[in-house]
Amino acid sequence: MNSFSGKQRESVLQASEHERYDVIIIGGGITGAGIALDATTRGLKTALFEMQDFAAGTSSRSTKLIHGGLRYLKQFEIKLVADVGKERAIVYENGPHVTTPEWMLLPIYKGGTFGKFSTSIGLRLYDFLAGVKRYERRKMLNRKETLNKAPLLKKEGLLGGGYYVEYRTDDARLTIEVVKKAVEQGAQAVNYTKVESLLYEDEKVSGVVVKDLVTGKEYKVLAKRVINATGPWVDQIREIDGSKENKTLKLTKGVHIVIDQKKFPLKQAIYYDTKDGRMVFAIPREGKTYVGTTDTFYQDDLASPTVTKEDCDYLITTIHDMFPKVKLTLVDIESSWAGLRPLIHEDGKNPSEISRKDEIWQSKSGLITIAGGKLTGFRKMAEQVVDTMIESLDKEQDMPLGTCKTKNLPISGGDVGGSKDYKQFLAKKTRQLLKYDLDKMTADKLVRLYGSNIDRIIDYMKEDDSNAPKTDLPLYVQAMLLYSLEHEMTLNPLDFFVRRTGSLYFDINWVLTFKKQVTSYIASYYRWSNQTKSCYENSLDQVLGESRIAPLDRTIIKIR
Ligand code: FAD
Repeated sequence: MNSFSGKQRESVLQASEHERYDVIIIGGGITGAGIALDATTRGLKTALFEMQDFAAGTSSRSTKLIHGGLRYLKQFEIKLVADVGKERAIVYENGPHVTTPEWMLLPIYKGGTFGKFSTSIGLRLYDFLAGVKRYERRKMLNRKETLNKAPLLKKEGLLGGGYYVEYRTDDARLTIEVVKKAVEQGAQAVNYTKVESLLYEDEKVSGVVVKDLVTGKEYKVLAKRVINATGPWVDQIREIDGSKENKTLKLTKGVHIVIDQKKFPLKQAIYYDTKDGRMVFAIPREGKTYVGTTDTFYQDDLASPTVTKEDCDYLITTIHDMFPKVKLTLVDIESSWAGLRPLIHEDGKNPSEISRKDEIWQSKSGLITIAGGKLTGFRKMAEQVVDTMIESLDKEQDMPLGTCKTKNLPISGGDVGGSKDYKQFLAKKTRQLLKYDLDKMTADKLVRLYGSNIDRIIDYMKEDDSNAPKTDLPLYVQAMLLYSLEHEMTLNPLDFFVRRTGSLYFDINWVLTFKKQVTSYIASYYRWSNQTKSCYENSLDQVLGESRIAPLDRTIIKIR
């Protein structure tokens, strides 16, 4: 059985007590995942512990764009834009199945934040800083061309638009694919394991005490170095280390809402100005339009930030202002999510003004903390963290540990011949899947979801596994589920519906159709008691409810 199967967790944890790792990473968001991949491919013995599911923190709650952060140009963050902008192309090349180019329209209005001239210059600078390929460089559109692309836009005061490329991703899947690649290369990664405390030897951090939140068992795991990649939680780990000093985190909450295309038939991704001087994305995706984000300071529960009625009202108002023909009420929100930006505190700045840059801090005990940053820059951040760590490790090792190897390394599912051959790959595998009685849309969706791992899904559809629980799920859903149980450490229905398939956000009907059978299947697979099963059923229903109706009056709307 694969070492990244849910059934292997306990034996991996037991074995970890007898190891001494080169590095332990705390946190399985995109930052920790990237560090695990970088470290393991440089030959370091690597372990990663994640207290929730992989990506369950901020890394499944972003705007889901691999982007250079055009708006940071307004704040003159030239280096950030250049670094992150260049990384876009690398992330795309190494995982074209989870990253898709998306032309973005920036409408220009009389009296708006961006003038025609400044947009033209800004976008040209952006192309230059991000090293954008010739055919993806910005175009300036006149008023008519802008309205042709986005007829729903407010006409009054419209002067034209800037048209440029960003990349759309599924943040949680990107994270999972990076973790899977790290595991394939030799790292150990376990979800639902919380680092409760740190171990020390001669006042230097020498390991962690980690608790398996599934069984309640604790393990002492030793390592030469420990990295704190816990995003919004980094100060909590620094507190355990007694090193929360100088700079600290400031968290801001960002909310997105999802609306069906029947209600908000947007065909073109738009990045628009709001009346309070902020910028909001509206992005068409899989028959839906999602809109976000808000940006407000946050101090509440870190694990489950919620979407409030005020958040939804704010976003709906911005939609009404920019797309006057669209008429929405809270009832039209199909799903939503809220995430926390782990930003580095800057005195006197409002949420949108605080820099998104990352920093590496090393405490007296040797604990390395990575704070801030963006999804897009994860590979580069990982390179910098591992470089920092290696400087000191090299002195202890017999051999130098070498340089970063991830620039040209496809992530799991990314062996599709690069972006150049991806279209061909997609068409070929989609045709192959059609033989299994799938419609074209589902086949296409599956290939995009799994990339080169689609062959494993096809194997599962072919195999008649007598050990697999009996089910009346469609063959392809069963194959997806088995793959996620055996190769992606899915432990419960939420892992599957939220972070392995993204369906809870973008295909709520699919979740409602299969949630019962999927839960029963997982229950048989792990031999859950009835009590455990009903616990997971309830938590799925609660998240479904919160995602869809938290901001609404629960007496009016009931989940179908
Ligand atoms: P997280 O994903 O939060 O991971 C940290 C993990 O550490 C968590 O999963 C947590 O459970 C775990 N952990 C904490 N304590 C412990 C412990 N004691 N033991 C074990 N595990 C622990 N960036 C972009 O590039 N593009 C975007 O479009 C974009 N949009 C965004 C929109 C919003 C609303 C927000 C909030 C952020 C956005 N970002 C975007 C930024 C990006 O999402 C984050 O920078 C990134 O996801 C942070 O990843 P992380 O791994 O550092 O943190």
